[in-house]
Amino acid sequence: MDYQAILQRIFYETRPMFTQGKVADYIPALASIDPSRYGISVVSIDQSAYHIGDAHIPFSIQSISKVFSFTLAYKHRGDDIWNRIGKESSGTAFNSLIQLEYENGIPRNPFINAGAIVVADILLDIFPDPLQEMLRFVRQLAGDATIHYNPVVAASERIYGHRNLALAHFMKSFGNIHHDVDQVLEIYFHQCAIEMTSSQLATAFLYLANNGINPQDGVQILDSSRAKRLKALMLTTGLYNESSEFAFRVGMPGKSGVGGGIAALIPDLLSMVVWSPPLNSMGNSVVGFEALERFTTYLGKSVF
Ligand code: GLU
Repeated sequence: MDYQAILQRIFYETRPMFTQGKVADYIPALASIDPSRYGISVVSIDQSAYHIGDAHIPFSIQSISKVFSFTLAYKHRGDDIWNRIGKESSGTAFNSLIQLEYENGIPRNPFINAGAIVVADILLDIFPDPLQEMLRFVRQLAGDATIHYNPVVAASERIYGHRNLALAHFMKSFGNIHHDVDQVLEIYFHQCAIEMTSSQLATAFLYLANNGINPQDGVQILDSSRAKRLKALMLTTGLYNESSEFAFRVGMPGKSGVGGGIAALIPDLLSMVVWSPPLNSMGNSVVGFEALERFTTYLGKSVF
């Protein structure tokens, strides 16, 4: 399959569409991004890599980090996680407080903010220094020791993070946050501030395309059952309130972030990341969504 030719076609067809979206502006560090940035990376499980555009420029991975933090928690805690987090789509915004009240502080899934905040709380039970562990883990997955937290973004997340503070305190009132709220949010705000290129990120998602095993070093990150379940959650809840639309049009498990990245994969074949900062009204990259739809169309393959 000529992936490079497909990427080239997609890149030039979808590039003009960035004007249809709006970059995230809830923190200055994201609001000032050049909206015309555009990169795509595809890495196959035999580790052949294909890139186009700004594939080597780091961006803020934001909610895509929820896949990594959840993987760490799931790996160490297994199904106990489901006592504290659900696995259904929420039907509400990613940072909504509404559901938490009538569902007694149990978030609907690990990929809405409330769910990721509970995951951060669980990481504090497992690791003496979850922030260091998360970075070690992401660097291992990507095979790149240069990946870092952007301290300016992390500080802005904290300054403007009133809603996340509200979510955490609210869940603590139901007993679903065990540690100090500031300590928990320090982890959440930092994971959102991880910076990676589409190339690094596509490599880091390879373990999910490869049945839970990182093909670079053969290390089993998740057993195949947990890898399957995590991919199912990505398919059903990974793109905010547009997850079904993404499954319908693209047909890949994926995870998006408000930095404009979308990571997605086809099991036993490849992982892929598209980065284009302008977002649609659901918080997903306009060009990213379009590019991934065209990718599975031109490739003639999806998970279905
Ligand atoms: N960091 C932001 C927040 O927690 C957005 C994360 C995202 O959805 O990408 O509100």
